[in-house]
Amino acid sequence: MIDKGMLITVSGPSGSGKGTVLGELVKKRDDVKISVSMTTRQNRNGEIDGINYYFVSKEYFEKKINEGSMLEYAQYAGNYYGTPKEPVDEMLKAGKAVILEIDVQGADKIKEIYPDVIRIFIMPPSASVLERRLRGRNTEDEETINHRLVIAKGEMKMASEYDFIVINDKLDSAVKDVETIIDAERLKASRNKIFLSEVINNV
Ligand code: 5GP
Repeated sequence: MIDKGMLITVSGPSGSGKGTVLGELVKKRDDVKISVSMTTRQNRNGEIDGINYYFVSKEYFEKKINEGSMLEYAQYAGNYYGTPKEPVDEMLKAGKAVILEIDVQGADKIKEIYPDVIRIFIMPPSASVLERRLRGRNTEDEETINHRLVIAKGEMKMASEYDFIVINDKLDSAVKDVETIIDAERLKASRNKIFLSEVINNV
């Protein structure tokens, strides 16, 4: 029995495929949960409210900030994105590995609040693959794509400060890499202090 859940942030540029990696991971693992973020951006084709994001108005988002209900939030490409606090705390209490899929600014804020957070950065295998994936979505205009490429470069410059890098070339192996990180973290002595003292005290 591990002491409690663990918090993980997963960052990576738009087009790194982090959403796909995490979607596959939660299908395989019952002990891993993804926090659903709130955003003021428009939903893209196929995105479902309450599953991909909670899509809300700017006024509603600002009300939640003022009420202190957001664990963190950031502005990205003109929209708010943030993590509602209460569900995260509940999943951690239930012993889950809780993943926050957030940008690098958000990951920095989480590190201040939860110093033992595990930070993973998902990288595309190359710059050309990143650009192809962004264009392949066909959901954004040229100006938005170029803006996202500039942001992506800035984000990837931060990758070396993360705890782990996962390269999303082949989906299966990227998913396996994230599982390996979670499994190794669960085995850390520092995450098993209650178990250790229970056994030792019963000898
Ligand atoms: P997208 O519009 O491509 O879904 O997301 C844009 C950026 O916002 C991504 O870098 C994504 O990781 C980030 N993001 C999504 N949810 C959150 C959140 O709850 N908090 C923060 N700080 N960033 C988020």
